[in-house]
Amino acid sequence: PGFHDLISDTQLRKAIDVLGYEAPTPVQLAAIPAASAGKNLIVSSKTGSGKTVAFLLPAIQTMLARPCVNPTSTRMLILTPTRELARQIVKNAEQILKFTGFKVGMVCGGEELKYQKAMLRKNPEIIVGTPGRLAEHISHKSTEFSGLEFLVLDEADRMLDMGLSDDVLKITNTCRTERQTLLFSATMEQKGLRHLIKQVILGEAEEIYI
Ligand code: AMP
Repeated sequence: PGFHDLISDTQLRKAIDVLGYEAPTPVQLAAIPAASAGKNLIVSSKTGSGKTVAFLLPAIQTMLARPCVNPTSTRMLILTPTRELARQIVKNAEQILKFTGFKVGMVCGGEELKYQKAMLRKNPEIIVGTPGRLAEHISHKSTEFSGLEFLVLDEADRMLDMGLSDDVLKITNTCRTERQTLLFSATMEQKGLRHLIKQVILGEAEEIYI
C-alpha cells in the first residue's frame, strides 16, 4: 500500500508529494489506519522510523474534517523530551501543514516566555513542547487544553528517564478527557512506563510493536 491508500485529504497528499516520500514506513502503515479509526495507540518505535509522520498525518486529517470543540483551545498537543526533538517535529509539521490553514507553535525551555505567550495568543491548532515549560504556561494560564482532540507523548521512555513525569501529568490532567492519545516509546520495559500509560491513556488502546 502507498500513502494514497492511507490518506485521502488532497492538501495532505500534496504535502507528501512535495516531501518526496514514496512509500509509508512500517510504523506509518500500522499507525495511520489505527489512529484514523479513532483508536488510542501505544507504539514502540525509534527515532528514524518515521513515527513523526505516523502521528501527524492521521491527526491532522481528522482535524481538517471536523469542527474544533473550542476555538480558544489547542487541538493537538505533542509532548517531547528535548528542544532538539521539538524542533524536528515542528519542521516536519510545517511541511505537512503547508497546504492547510493550520498553524504549529513550539514551546520549549530556554526561550523567551513573553515571545511564547504572544505566539500562544494566536491559538495555533498544534503545539509541540517540552513538559517543564508547558507546565509553566498552564500555571500562567497562557494556554489551555479543554478542547484538545489529540495528545501525543513522543519518546515517553526518555521523558520518564529525565524525571519529567510530574510535569507530563500536570499537563495531561488539564487535557480534555474525550481525546485520542498516541504514545510512542523506544522501549516498553521501562520502569514506570505502564503506570504513566494508565494515567494518560483513558480507555482502550491498540499496541503496535515495530
Ligand atoms: P522520524 O522517525 O519521525 O524522526 O523520521 C525520520 C526521517 O524520515 C525524517 O527526516 C522524515 O522526514 C523521514 N521520513 C518519514 N517518513 C518517510 C517516508 N515514508 N519515506 C521517506 N522518508 C520518510
